[in-house]
Formats: sequence, C-alpha cells, structure tokens
Amino acid sequence: MQRFDPDYVFFEPGALEYPLGKTLYEQFQKQGVPIQMTTSHNQVRGIPGETETEKYRNAKRTLVVGVRKTLKFDTSKPSAEYAIPLTTGCAGHCHYCYLQTTMSSKPYIRIYVNLDEILDQAGAYIMERAPEITRFEAACTGDPVSVEHLTGSLRRYIEYMATKEYGRLRFVTKFANVDTLLGVQHNGHTRIRFSINSRYVIRHFEPATSTFEERIEAAGKIAEAGYPLGFIVAPIMKYEGWEEEYRELLHRLHERLKNVEIQDLTFELIQHRFTKVAKNTIMKRYPKTKLDMNEENRKLKWGRYGRFKYVYPPETVDEMKQLFEETIPGYFPQAEISYFV
Ligand code: SF4
Repeated sequence: MQRFDPDYVFFEPGALEYPLGKTLYEQFQKQGVPIQMTTSHNQVRGIPGETETEKYRNAKRTLVVGVRKTLKFDTSKPSAEYAIPLTTGCAGHCHYCYLQTTMSSKPYIRIYVNLDEILDQAGAYIMERAPEITRFEAACTGDPVSVEHLTGSLRRYIEYMATKEYGRLRFVTKFANVDTLLGVQHNGHTRIRFSINSRYVIRHFEPATSTFEERIEAAGKIAEAGYPLGFIVAPIMKYEGWEEEYRELLHRLHERLKNVEIQDLTFELIQHRFTKVAKNTIMKRYPKTKLDMNEENRKLKWGRYGRFKYVYPPETVDEMKQLFEETIPGYFPQAEISYFV
C-alpha cells in the first residue's frame, strides 16, 4: 500500500523538545535515513538535485519536522470554520493538484510536533463559538492520512474532538492506510472523506497515492468503524468511456458498502477545471501528462480567487450532473449530494 516514507529528513532544533520530535528523530536515525537540521521549516536548503525537476522529485520525498509557531488558524469556509494545522505539502504526484499553484516553490512535506498546543488552540476556538458547532478541516494544505503512520496526529485529533460537544473534525484523503484509525473513539465527531475517481483518472493522473481498489476497501473499513463518511469525486473528467467508468465507480462503492449500516454519507462532486497559471506549472512538472487542458473545449469562468478558470461547457456539465444525480440515489438513497461545482 502506498504510504510516505521519506528519503531525506530535516528537523528544526525546537522539534526535538517535543516527545513526537524526539521519537521521530530516533526512528529515522535507526532506519539510516539521512537527517539534517534546518533553522526553519519554511526555509529548507540542501535538498539534493541537479535539475529543477530532480529537485522537485526529491523535495516530494523530503520530510521536514517542525514546530507550528503560528497558532492562528486560517479559515476554511464554507465546509469548515477553521483549517487545523497537521501537515503542509504532500508526497502524492497528482498532476492537477491544487498545491502545484499554492505551494510550488516548497513542495517538501512539513509535519508539526506541538500537537498539544495546536489542540489547545482548537479548544479555544470551540469555546469562543459554543454552543455553535465549530468544524475543523485537517486537509487544507496536504493529505493527513499519508503521514499518519509517522505522526499519529489524526488519531490524537479524532480522540480530542470526540470529547468536545461542539467540536467537529473533517478531512479528505487519497490514501488507504487507515487501519490505525479504526479502533479510535470518535463519537461521530469526525467525518472522513475519500477523494475517489474513475480507474482512468487514478491510473493516469494520481501517481504515488492509493489505488482505486485500496481506496474503496479503506472507505468500507471506515464505514464499518461507524465514522460519518463522505466521498469527493474530483476532478470529474470527460474522456472516452468516462460514463461507464464513473458508473462502475459508484457500483463498486455500493458493492463494498451495501451491508454496512451508514447513517451519514455525503457526496461532493467537482468537475475538472484549470487556470492558465496551473496549466503552465503542470506542463513544467509533468510534461508528458495526458491531462486534457485544451482551452478550446472549455468555457471560461471568472473564479473566486481573481483568476479565470476553464470549466467544461454547460452541455457536458449537464451530462455529468445527470449521471451522478441519477446513479447516487439508486445506490445510496440516504446520501446527501452536498454540491456539484
Ligand atoms: Fe495533492 Fe491530494 Fe494528490 Fe496529495 S493526494 S498530491 S494533496 S491532490
């Protein structure tokens, strides 16, 4: 199963003052992984590589263990009130990944060891808003499950939220190594969403993440463990045979989940879109990509972040919507389709 085991590790000296930092240091030392020190997790120098591409590849194999100093959480509207820090960066190589544009210059993976301080801050936010529910998203800047075998942070966060009447946690993942989360006391306060797609999209555009089969199996285990469950089908793409493959995806999810009682199930549906900036970065990082970014087949739409984005034309969007809106209720009558964008 795909999981992230780094080739290079950097530590901030301050990280060694925390139990998790010490444990990780000893663990990597024992494994013989090259360790270097860095003054700040935001400024890491010395990742090997002759060319830009090599440096990028190696950065995606590099872990930086640091202390999260900024304890002011970013907002994460509309699906959560706050982004809770857990990891920044990701070892996955999804060609279309949002991190390409937001974090292109620092593709290494950062994790934080001051978990108690982060959770205390979350507690303060919960108190401020109580009795309103406060939701925290743990996957705004990376994939938290991909580093869980190293940090155990998700487990800690889930257990913490289970004790908070007004606190909720949510995250999304493309990784299937969820076994350590199965026996955790969650009280239904954490929603685990799987980012899932057709076989074609996963095979061609999501290297270094878990496979189609592995993600379906992981979702089954999470459902059996009683967590609120969700699927993000994104990015939905049109290609030869797409309709058949997306139907297969929903059918396979149904087959895996049909004998599990699931009270709470959501689907989020997102069509593929790109900006000019993202296209340029993707072509530089993955020059052989088969990702269809031909502007002529798309419609230009003004985006929320002040940039034009290319989306599918209305007739394609209608076909996509129809496929999902007809098929999902047939297989999952209790599911809520949160949105299609
Ligand atoms: Fe980006 Fe998610 Fe893929 Fe990681 S798994 S590269 S965060 S899209």
